[in-house]
Amino acid sequence: MKIGFIGLGNMGAPMAANLARAGHAVTGFDTAGVTVEGVIPAASAAEAASGADVVITMLPNGAILRAVADQIIPAMAPGAGFVDCSTVDVDSARFVAETAEKAGLLAVDAPVSGGVGGAAAGTLTFMAGGSDAAFAKAQPLFEIMGQKAVHCGGSGAGQAAKICNNMILGVTMIATCEAFALADKLGLDRQKMFDVVSTSSGYSWTMNAYCPAPGVGPKSPADNDYKPGFAADLMLKDLRLSQQAAESADADTPMGQLAAELYRRFVEDEDGRGRDFSAMLPRFETRGRT
Ligand code: NAD
Repeated sequence: MKIGFIGLGNMGAPMAANLARAGHAVTGFDTAGVTVEGVIPAASAAEAASGADVVITMLPNGAILRAVADQIIPAMAPGAGFVDCSTVDVDSARFVAETAEKAGLLAVDAPVSGGVGGAAAGTLTFMAGGSDAAFAKAQPLFEIMGQKAVHCGGSGAGQAAKICNNMILGVTMIATCEAFALADKLGLDRQKMFDVVSTSSGYSWTMNAYCPAPGVGPKSPADNDYKPGFAADLMLKDLRLSQQAAESADADTPMGQLAAELYRRFVEDEDGRGRDFSAMLPRFETRGRT
């Protein structure tokens, strides 16, 4: 396939490289002038999109996605696929998909989980929203860049799945960290805490697979001085998107709201920026009740 790839950052660059390595003709564009092995550089987003069978975008936010969509949609031929893999707000995802469909394109919102490691290894999970035809067009590319793609429903359903999942993740990480900090103060050994909780009803991905306590459970960013991993800044972004969506859908999400506020404080007022999101544990360790 002829593929246009726009946004060659930490995630986009390895994803584009994997598509090129698999034998697709990939033309890429990034405003930062990034070059990627095997990817033909274009002078603009429109140039990368022109004549492409599928255009993939991997951009920082919904406002940038809307701006890029305005540039590329007129350059694309009817029947081509527009696959946005960025994590953006549901409203932007739906707006861009609607505009693309009016121009005869097949639009999919397909945010990912798996991080930079998954992007490099080609083991991402895609959560996709769009028509059956649009999903079918993108599927062979998902198979190269990832190990699993779930068709979640119509436009915006991929973003909805992503932010609901990450709202659970943020809330659960906080609960796991505050429970470890409480256990410390009660004199409970962290290994014993892990042994009990990881096999009891408090178990979770954050405890069992990504334990925030160093030296306990499987290897995780806690064992690497809380270097990300999944940065607290990105968790804050996703929690904010969940609250924006909750606001626009009139959904009551008190735990998500509190998690967003705690990560905001951690990232903006404390030392959380650039640290893994599990560094909430050392944050709680140093605090008392007030
Ligand atoms: P990044 O900041 O490394 O990459 C974004 C790239 O987009 C940058 O290289 C930037 O120069 C480029 N860009 C910005 N405006 C542009 C424009 N108008 N035209 C062309 N290029 C433009 O971010 P990332 O870590 O690669 O993340 C990309 C997306 O994936 C985000 O939406 C993020 O939330 C999501 N995501 C990231 C991770 C992760 O672990 N990094 C995991 C899952 C999802």
